[in-house]
Amino acid sequence: NTFASLGLSAPFVRAAEELGYVEPTPIQVAAIPAALTGRDLLASAQTGSGKTAAFAFAVLQQIDARVRPALRRTQALVLVPTRELAAQVGESLRQIGQFLQEPVKVSVLFGGVSINPQMMALRGGAEVVVATPGRLLDVVAQNALKLSDVSCLVLDEADRMLDGGFADEVTRVLALLPSRRQNLLFSATFPEAVRALTAELLRDPVRVEI
Ligand code: AMP
Repeated sequence: NTFASLGLSAPFVRAAEELGYVEPTPIQVAAIPAALTGRDLLASAQTGSGKTAAFAFAVLQQIDARVRPALRRTQALVLVPTRELAAQVGESLRQIGQFLQEPVKVSVLFGGVSINPQMMALRGGAEVVVATPGRLLDVVAQNALKLSDVSCLVLDEADRMLDGGFADEVTRVLALLPSRRQNLLFSATFPEAVRALTAELLRDPVRVEI
């Protein structure tokens, strides 16, 4: 397997090369082609499996494939349980996105710090937003972000998100998204709360177990 054989376009093949990824990891082999078809995905994957790059490649290529209007509408939303993960995932998306001919803007939102710089950074829009659920809701309540154009939702570390007591916030975020969208869910474990969420959220998902 090569990154090109997974269906990734030239800029992403180059990104993988520049990042020193010699070959795709098993989760990338399974998840990238499935996600590129636009289908929902239910992936059981641990940290260290290369799951972040798996969804980063798939999400960014689908944004790249669209005609981007002058306004940077938010097309992809990545929900994560912690600020550390938000920063890491944002960094990965930016690293990969920098190889695109037309750069994609990635904004990162998390609580525990002042909201104003994050809202300022959203001015002019961002095609991809990475966020913890509570801060995302605050930013939306301040009218600093519109979610009506989101066509892809990623839930990363869904088990930690629900453990962290974010179930209510996640439900409130989901209610703000267009119903026609792709959903990519990643979780290391599948306790009852995660299974209930997947049943509600995912439509005929491709299942990937690594
Ligand atoms: P993750 O599972 O997303 O936390 O990623 C774990 C680490 O694997 C990160 O440091 C990535 O940069 C790295 N990584 C992701 N994909 C590959 C790959 N195909 N080859 C080598 N390293 C990778």
